This record gives sequence, structure tokens and C-alpha cells, in this order.
Amino acid sequence: MREDDLLSHVYRRSSDLERAFPWVEAGPGDDCAVVRVGQSRVLMKTDQLVEGRHFVPGTPVAMFARKAVTRPLSDLAAAAGRPIAALAAAVLPPAWRGGRANEVFDALSSVARGFGCPLVGGDIAMTELGPLVLTISIVGEPHAARGPVTRRGALPGDGLYVTGRIGGSFGEGGLGRHLAFEPRLAEAAALADVLGGRLHAMMDLSDGLGIDAGRLAKASGVRIEVDAGAIPLAPEVQGVERAIRDGEDYELLFTAEGEVPGVLAGTCVTRIGRVVAGSGAVLVTGSGMVEISGQGWDHGAR
Ligand SMILES: [Mg+2]
Repeated sequence: MREDDLLSHVYRRSSDLERAFPWVEAGPGDDCAVVRVGQSRVLMKTDQLVEGRHFVPGTPVAMFARKAVTRPLSDLAAAAGRPIAALAAAVLPPAWRGGRANEVFDALSSVARGFGCPLVGGDIAMTELGPLVLTISIVGEPHAARGPVTRRGALPGDGLYVTGRIGGSFGEGGLGRHLAFEPRLAEAAALADVLGGRLHAMMDLSDGLGIDAGRLAKASGVRIEVDAGAIPLAPEVQGVERAIRDGEDYELLFTAEGEVPGVLAGTCVTRIGRVVAGSGAVLVTGSGMVEISGQGWDHGAR
């Protein structure tokens, strides 16, 4: 089953949540859920890291533990949130028990503390089968002035932007940038500070610019045009076509009205296209337009 087929099922079955449970402001389908608790709103996110799927066996503990924590933090950045606390759950096959399990916990704990997001609870299950699985769930708070940013707010006339550089994150032997990326929390906070309500929609790039731009377009009910020549390519990527498919960039993709700074918290920001009326996401090249919404890394299909 493709990951998107299952997700579509989940979204359909959850479509009444916001009506049936009025404290749910955003349910499945965005980078973070938004839930009202008393007078406040909290952001919630959970993410799994599976040995053999999200990191290659043999990857050092410090590297995959960092990725386990930074993946959900990247989704929190997409909502322009600030981390508060995290829960960690692990499924441990025989090779990962005893001293190695302690090592995994210590690494998770130290990364989480480093982001101001302490581990405050969790669960451990043993299995005789299957790979190591780590699940990290985080709670965050929205930007005080802007509130939670979702994928839903893009409007025709907006510019389309990305932070950093795109493509080639898996690297030589699987030990590339996808393990060492910096979740764009500071950049997202700076963006919300500077743009406020002009920051219309945002997500993080996990499955490839093509498929993710298609998701942003769908969530907002708009069409996204990406200019092939404007995409800031990472030095290790071979061409635009690969860059929009590769995935695991963990950069921010956002739409905004008016002027946007070229640098945020030390990271470059590039205008790569625009939002127009319509549906889908297309790459605009010298010879025409190519639909790219279906191009990316489907975690469920790999
Ligand atoms: Mg995301």
C-alpha cells in the first residue's frame, strides 16, 4: 500500500474531528495537530524512525538518535512552533538490548535536551522480530503573535519560498544530510516574527519538493508553480529532476504575501515560484510545464 492511500483513508475518517471535538483545531493532514487546552493552543506531532527504512543498519547511534528527535522538530518548525517536551517509545530487537539500549536512550535524551525539549516519559517494548523502531512525540507551543501556521492558508498571488538547499540528502552510503540536518525552528520563528499574518502557509520538505508542493497546493485549494531554474540545489545533487524527488530535505516550504527577507537566522531563503488559482503543482521549465505532485519519496512504497 502506498503511504498516501492510507493517509487519504485516515484523513477521510478524521474529517469530522474538528466538528465533533471543538477543541481540535487541526487534525491529521498537517505537519502538526493543533489542539486547544484551556485558554492555550498546543502543537502535537509524532514520528517514527525505523532501522533499514529511515537509516541504514550500522549508522552510529548518535546520528540516528539525532534524526529521531529532529524529524518531529522539523514538523514543529513547519508550524512555527517552539518545543516544550517530548515522549519517546522504542521497540527493541535482541541486538539492541542492555548496554546498547542505554546508549540509544542517552543519545535521544541529550539531543532532546539540546533543543530545549526534554524527554518526559515513554515506553519500551521488546521484540524477537523486526528492526529497531524509535517513536518520538513532541508537544510545542505556537508562535505567540502569529499563532499556528498550517498548510492551508496559501492564496493566489503569494510567492513560494524554500530555506536552504534541496536534494541529495541521502548522501554517499546513506550517511548524508538526512541524518545531520538542522530543524528550521529559529528560521520559522524569525519568519513569523517578521511576516506575521503575511506568512500564509508552511510545511517542511520530507518526501520531496514535488510531492510536498502538491500536498501544500491540495491543502490550500490552490495551484503551485515552481520555477525549475530558481530551485537552490545542494552541491551533491545531480540536477533539478533528482532534487524534486529526493526527499528528506527538512527545509521549510512556505508561501507569503509581499517582501520576504533573503536570509533568516543565518539561512538563505529563495523564492522558487508562486501560488495561482487552480490545483496541483507544476514545474515550469524552458520548454513548458510538468506536473510534479506525484514525484517524491513515498516512505510506504520503498
Ligand atoms: Mg512535515
